[in-house]
Amino acid sequence: MTMVEYRNEPFTDFKQEVNRQAMQDALEHVRAQLGRAYPLRIDGQEIMTDRRSASINPGQLKQIVGYVSQADADLARQAIEAADAAFQDWQHVAPDVRAGYLFKAAALIRRRKFEFSAWLVYEVGKNWGEADADVAEAIDFLEFYGREMLRLAEPQPLTPTPGEENRLTYIPLGVGVVISPWNFPFAIMAGMTCAAIVAGNTVVLKPASTAPVIAARFAELMEEAGLPPGVLNFVPGSGGEIGDLLVDHPRTRFVSFTGSRDVGLRINERIARPAQGQLWIKRLIAEMGGKDGIVVDSSADSAEAAEAIVASAFGFQGQKCSAGSRAIIHRDKYDEVLELIIEKTKQLTIGLPEENYPIGPVIDESAYNKIKEYMEIGAAEGRLVAGGDIAEGDGFYLQPTVFADVAPEARIMHEEIFGPVLAVCKAGDFKQAIDIFNNTEYGLTGSVFSRNREHLEYARRHMHCGNLYFNRKCTGALVGVHPFGGFNMSGTDSKAGGRDYLLLFTQAKLVSEKW
Ligand code: NAP
Repeated sequence: MTMVEYRNEPFTDFKQEVNRQAMQDALEHVRAQLGRAYPLRIDGQEIMTDRRSASINPGQLKQIVGYVSQADADLARQAIEAADAAFQDWQHVAPDVRAGYLFKAAALIRRRKFEFSAWLVYEVGKNWGEADADVAEAIDFLEFYGREMLRLAEPQPLTPTPGEENRLTYIPLGVGVVISPWNFPFAIMAGMTCAAIVAGNTVVLKPASTAPVIAARFAELMEEAGLPPGVLNFVPGSGGEIGDLLVDHPRTRFVSFTGSRDVGLRINERIARPAQGQLWIKRLIAEMGGKDGIVVDSSADSAEAAEAIVASAFGFQGQKCSAGSRAIIHRDKYDEVLELIIEKTKQLTIGLPEENYPIGPVIDESAYNKIKEYMEIGAAEGRLVAGGDIAEGDGFYLQPTVFADVAPEARIMHEEIFGPVLAVCKAGDFKQAIDIFNNTEYGLTGSVFSRNREHLEYARRHMHCGNLYFNRKCTGALVGVHPFGGFNMSGTDSKAGGRDYLLLFTQAKLVSEKW
């Protein structure tokens, strides 16, 4: 297969009237489809259940985005069995044919890009730019993993030896349970699913309960792309109710999870115990939380640093695993950078995602309450300099909040809040700033702003995180450009969107023939 070279899908420029109009049209088109019912998909069959969960627009609580059927234990079991049966054929489908489904799906999404963005605006409260980036990343994952499978299917280099023909091939594992989060409900969900599928595995996909409609649209789209029945089984349902069953099932070969630390650790523990009749050691790919930070050196450009800090802390209301929720600033720059952070934070307006305000709602009531609690904790641990309260609107709106003078040991410097709360901490010198940065159990993303080469090289060696950026924000990793994954309690460092990722969904088989 001759392929055009992989390129990142460009972001949409919403300054252009033509794109603004296209987005308005898409929002209107999707608005007319809100409130529909969505089925499970098992072995190519659509199953509507009596029990449905309502997906609510977090920015306008009266608006129901859709009613999604819910898998119970029996249906979850059926989905595993269907995936297991489909694996018998799918594992032998040629890699280029498997990749072809991803390329077709990418083309279908690209054609309906604004529409998918509009679903994200309604379902999780992303503003237009954030929604567009999520859709672009989904396209990127499909294009990238399709090509990666083609690469892995090529003859692999081995040391030649006389009288033998040796071949190493990457074969699939089996049935994969994919459990996805709500914060990149399209990109991460589609990326994890399609990586597993293109490598020759079959999948049972359980999306996050707060973002099941976008996943239902994706499952529908994969069927439109012609994916054979049983390769992708779609089982929305409560993680608390069916999660253990999916993870524990003896035919589950691997679990690909992205979500919180606690759920990831729970899965890690459970998969270690073999179920009766289980033939393998289950594999876990787990990408979890973060407590990411930006270090500002005395030599940094203050304006650039402040802009990056505010963008990293408050983009999508701080609900990114890569969100920069800590700013660690050298004492010489502290007052200046803090002033700029406050000024830029106060400029952020809050309102309906549909109307493209920079700051929208947080995902649901429990997140809203948890973040409010952290605002109280922050008030005791630091000096409130911006926000600190709820914001108006018929949804879960909170003000972007900044606490200054926070001590390195404070809870808001260690615990993942996953909301629009930034802790600012003063460091005596650069090395101390790096020590403060490293002083959490997580290790996902980090940034340094410095013009001092020695300091940058020191940071390169000593900052312990999977994605480290110099003189730029710590969010916004691009597929293929910035392979993504974290250390320590941030997960297994799978490096999604990188050359190592697909290997996690395969096992290498060596066949040696004596001549
Ligand atoms: P979450 O609460 O852990 O949920 C993630 C998924 O796990 C959901 O589908 C959830 O289903 C499911 N789940 C819940 N309990 C389960 C159980 N006992 N067994 C199996 N599955 C279960 O996380 P989230 O709130 O969706 O996402 C936010 C978290 O994800 C943050 O910590 C963030 O840092 C992390 N994240 C990490 C990355 C990364 O690449 N490192 C990327 C994005 C997000 P229900 O929705 O039905 O509960």
